[in-house]
Amino acid sequence: MPTPVQRIDFGGDYNPEQWPEEVWTEDLHLMKEAGVTMVTAGIFSWAKVEPRPDEWDFGWFDRVMGNMADAGIDVCLATMTASPPPWMSHRHPEILPVTAEGRVMHPGSRQHYCPSSPVYRSYARRLVERLATRYADHPALAMWHIGNEYGCHTKQCYCEVSAADFRRWLHDRYGSVDALNDAWSTAFWAQAYSSFDEVLPPRSAPAIPNPAQQLDYWRFSNDALLGCHLTEKEALNEITPGVPVTTNFMAHHKPVNQFEWAGHEDVVSLDFYQDPHDPRTHLHAALTFDLMRSAGGGNPWMLLEQAPSAVNWRQRNGPKPPGAMRLWSWQAVAQGSDSVIYFQWRQSRGGAEKFHSAMVPHGGTGTRTFREVCELGREPGSVAELAGTRVRQPEVGLVQDWNSRWALELEARPSTALQQPELMLAHHRPLWEANVPTDVVPPDRSLSPYRLVVVPNLYMMSEETGRRLTEYVRAGGHLLVSFFSGIVDESDRIHPGGYPGPLREVLGLRVEEFWPMAARAKQPVRGGPVGETEADLWSEVIHLEGAEAVARFSGGELDGLPAVTRHVLGAGTAWYVGTRLPNAAMRSLMDSVREGAGVEPVLPGLPAGVQTTVREAPGREDGAGSRYVFLLNHGAGEAEVQLPYAATDLLTGRSVAAGGRINLEPRGVAVLR
Ligand SMILES: [Zn+2]
Repeated sequence: MPTPVQRIDFGGDYNPEQWPEEVWTEDLHLMKEAGVTMVTAGIFSWAKVEPRPDEWDFGWFDRVMGNMADAGIDVCLATMTASPPPWMSHRHPEILPVTAEGRVMHPGSRQHYCPSSPVYRSYARRLVERLATRYADHPALAMWHIGNEYGCHTKQCYCEVSAADFRRWLHDRYGSVDALNDAWSTAFWAQAYSSFDEVLPPRSAPAIPNPAQQLDYWRFSNDALLGCHLTEKEALNEITPGVPVTTNFMAHHKPVNQFEWAGHEDVVSLDFYQDPHDPRTHLHAALTFDLMRSAGGGNPWMLLEQAPSAVNWRQRNGPKPPGAMRLWSWQAVAQGSDSVIYFQWRQSRGGAEKFHSAMVPHGGTGTRTFREVCELGREPGSVAELAGTRVRQPEVGLVQDWNSRWALELEARPSTALQQPELMLAHHRPLWEANVPTDVVPPDRSLSPYRLVVVPNLYMMSEETGRRLTEYVRAGGHLLVSFFSGIVDESDRIHPGGYPGPLREVLGLRVEEFWPMAARAKQPVRGGPVGETEADLWSEVIHLEGAEAVARFSGGELDGLPAVTRHVLGAGTAWYVGTRLPNAAMRSLMDSVREGAGVEPVLPGLPAGVQTTVREAPGREDGAGSRYVFLLNHGAGEAEVQLPYAATDLLTGRSVAAGGRINLEPRGVAVLR
């Protein structure tokens, strides 16, 4: 895998087509002032480079590319296919996506194309071939940015073209209509098909559409989007085989199976938009950044978009207070990013995102945002040696699976309040608070790097995954599983023999009955490291079959029944959490579990809110400068950290002796060598 960046790149989405060319000259000066080393350009340029079908105008973009080359700024060049020009849907209205209700999504915004459309794909491929041929040897071209935020708006399309494509996909998956009937449990509600020709997308229906059909539609739609992506990637690989490619993923993004897609990227990249109004925004970031790094096999990834300050698309869009943008940018680097790139360079005068902040705000250079951008822009240069280093291999693996999420979040479950992002966060947060680094991995990834594997609410699980988790524990691994895991197979059919099917042996228990709780209801739970607490959301009737109860429900219908259990199997231990514990109790439980597994924090005894991570230079393990420790103060107050080793802060140049102290202001950052 090529490493496209040899420094911590700094820059933004550059959209010069929104401005007259005299502004471009000022852009160049200001980019220098801000320390910009990379722009990602051309994302929404299709209508300007191909104003009429097969009529091309690349002259203006040649000048943009030339300007960047002259300024020594790398271009992450977008393939320009994210928003087709109006002429395309005027000429070919069949490319427009259709909702499950049959409503056509019209042009006038963005991403108005059916992912299965051969018309769209062929126009997109022709454009990509033009671009790649024209700029193949351009000195500014550093990498390709394919599409943009796939599935951000058009997640699924239900048009006739998609329906036909779905039938082809089903034929490939199942081979025969009998196999499809079996997988989809179509004996229920008289849904049996006699031919693939009768099968439709799960369009709006009088009652609950077949859940297996809906699940397959998520899978199919992911594949359709990936098909668009690979169509473009194939053209690029033919014309510019040495230029790395990426596409920008989004946080908690349901339509795109990022573990699968990451295998097609030369470098994984992410758009992440913190919510300054959300006190947990850095926790969402921590989970997402760990996922990005893990999806890319631990290699450096790229933060390809973030806001310099406010966004414009939430209900209430708070600005990032002073220092927050710097702290959250460094958080990405601390968790493995080799870039800090924003949307966008210059704030738009018009259009849907004119209130979205930019590196150069409406108020120009005399603004706090521009000052903070320039201040941060000077810092990555002082830590260029970080580029290419890897976050030290975590000892905890947190399991996440897109298939399970697609199934879990369908309707007609015991509780529709189970939403995977929140459930994942509830398991990642106690590890983050303890400064324990965590990978986020799919269920089929090797578990051998991990002393502890955490499986949050993995509703859908294959027999094979159950077997692997059982063997992992038997061989000495430590496992923590949360409720409503191992319930259904890959076709959303209940595993036979009682819950939790393939996990019964490793957990040493049987769940007889789900007892999801009413909104705002609480259930006291007592025992062991959980102490005395009140759970919510979920409870259930657990029968011990080899496991011991660590904590029990107290009061109510389930009084005295197990809530948290532990099972020693072979050389390992498996824990089970049959309810949702509040964070403090979850933290206490997780501390106990990981201490039993021998998992240590990066630095012990840090003040609350201080995050620490380690990046290491492979091959330089024993030399000076081989190890970089990040300290990030997310807390509201000043924090003092005692260092067990001598170090130099690369941002201030200050040295600290072993046993010495570092003071971090609120939102303060230190990068220690
Ligand atoms: Zn369609």
